[in-house]
Amino acid sequence: MRPRIEILPPAAAERIAAGEVIERPASVVKELIENSLDAGARRITVEIEGAGSRLIRVSDDGCGVPRDELAVAFARFATSKLRSADDLRRVRTYGFRGEALPSIAAIARVTIVTRPAAADTAATLTVAGGVGQAVVTAAAPEGTTVTVEDLFYNTPARQRFLKSPAREAAVIMETVQALGLAAPVVAIRLLEAGREVLWMPPEPFEERARRVLGPSFTDRTLRIEASGPTALTGVLGTPQAAQARRNHQWWLVNGRPVRSPMLARALDQAYHTLIPDGRVPAAALHVRVPQESLDVNIHPRKAEVRFADERAVFNDVVRETRRVLHGAALLHTVAGPARQAGADSAHGAGAAPFGTRIEETPRGYGAAGPARLDRGVTAAHLWTTGPAAPGWPVIRVLGQLALTYIVGESGEELVLIDQHAAHERVLYERLLTRRRSGGVQAQGLVTPTVAELSPAEERLVSEVRPALASLGFEFEAFGRAAVRLTAIPAIAAGRDAAALFRACLADLAGDRSDHAGRELEERLAIATACHTAVRAGDRLDHATMAALLEDLAQAEDPYSCFHGRPTLVRIPRGDLERWFYRRT
Ligand code: ADP
Ligand code: MG
Repeated sequence: MRPRIEILPPAAAERIAAGEVIERPASVVKELIENSLDAGARRITVEIEGAGSRLIRVSDDGCGVPRDELAVAFARFATSKLRSADDLRRVRTYGFRGEALPSIAAIARVTIVTRPAAADTAATLTVAGGVGQAVVTAAAPEGTTVTVEDLFYNTPARQRFLKSPAREAAVIMETVQALGLAAPVVAIRLLEAGREVLWMPPEPFEERARRVLGPSFTDRTLRIEASGPTALTGVLGTPQAAQARRNHQWWLVNGRPVRSPMLARALDQAYHTLIPDGRVPAAALHVRVPQESLDVNIHPRKAEVRFADERAVFNDVVRETRRVLHGAALLHTVAGPARQAGADSAHGAGAAPFGTRIEETPRGYGAAGPARLDRGVTAAHLWTTGPAAPGWPVIRVLGQLALTYIVGESGEELVLIDQHAAHERVLYERLLTRRRSGGVQAQGLVTPTVAELSPAEERLVSEVRPALASLGFEFEAFGRAAVRLTAIPAIAAGRDAAALFRACLADLAGDRSDHAGRELEERLAIATACHTAVRAGDRLDHATMAALLEDLAQAEDPYSCFHGRPTLVRIPRGDLERWFYRRT
């Protein structure tokens, strides 16, 4: 039984987050769709003309408004959804403030036509500039249609703040999609000047999530499904699908579309080092927390919520997202023309047999002076049985290309590995794992070396001394403008110690916006790994390449270096065949 519309008592009205409810046409669309959803609609049609400024019409097949309550619905704080201030803590409806209809009617001409299931006829009412006419009988199917015309006609200042019609229409589209994500069982259609621009049939949440992200993500998403104090469901874009802008992130919190810088930061952290700086992951996610731990009444347009324990939610989202990312095959594939859908998907095994072995290739090739990794290679090292990242392919090394890439074969695919990126990832993880497990591995220098320092470098050294020590750099002051290095991180054994030390300092000093937010040790680990890793131009022999790939397979995040560049790219056989016109 639907409760009657009544005016909220002052005690409740006073606690409503005040502010402007209708900021732009999309705000009207949002409020009206929310009303339709609250009315239990299964089908909603949204029509707009003139980017919403001329006309917005939302029709639903929901419960309707009884004729005798129609006029009061346009009064401030008139709602059927909330009775007292107490109820504010357990709101389950989208609306609860009774502010939308009066706010819209104050700045536009609003006509509502509505018929509850039990009524024989529909009733209609027009309100313009806040002044209502008489309720009259009309003919209409069950449900409600609200038409809003000439928005902001009496508030020219507001009108001037609107963006271009194209932009306002785009924001409306996003608004409809966001609510569509919240209500996947509801069919929603958007018409722009009579033309259908969006159709969302009733579907499972996950499919709605993929639809909202868009077809370009089809084979580049991963499912996430985590229960716990913070339940998380939806789809994540793979690192390869990362975007330059944040408008491919969709969040629901307890069913409400919201913006949340905290949640966005949690995703950034989860994808940390998997995507380049300046890019952001794509995602459509539903976060659920116990209703008592959420305040939905903090923003006039209900676009933000407040969690009782932000930190816990942040940590849960990071952890669960990382779990999915670590459980997925995040191999980069070249974007060939008309690649088969699914070939790149998380679950989609491509042609490559997946496993943890690196196949051995004839060794001892070009032994004269190739760069050596930081440990000896023995035949035993070439076969691995330990845990490896899921989906990591078995790779047979074919050779080296341009002294930069390792060329390999994996099943029927060609794979290219960036030797520097791959080695960076291996070294970086080794450094950080060792630091986390407490045991810094320093390699004492047989002959200590002296590194000369500029005054600026000297200052930097004294500032970051503990961080340097935590990674294995041991040194003491030597004269005025120099230090005597007695040990360096074990991973860099055999490198020119003084050069490495100075290169790391230079990186730290020159480090600006990019990594500035990261903790010092991590920045140092990145610098150390970067200056220790084999470079483009280093000749590697087969055994060394195989050993590197084996190490990479053991990494926690083998798919990218810490700058977020891919370590390995697959070229499916199908692409080769197209290139050679064997297949079209
Ligand atoms: P709120 O949604 O916060 O209650 P609104 O001003 O948006 O306030 O709406 C006032 C009341 O009008 C609602 O509480 C609801 O009872 C009724 N109403 C509005 N739109 C619809 C609709 N599409 N279908 C049924 N009832 C509606
Ligand atoms: Mg409402």
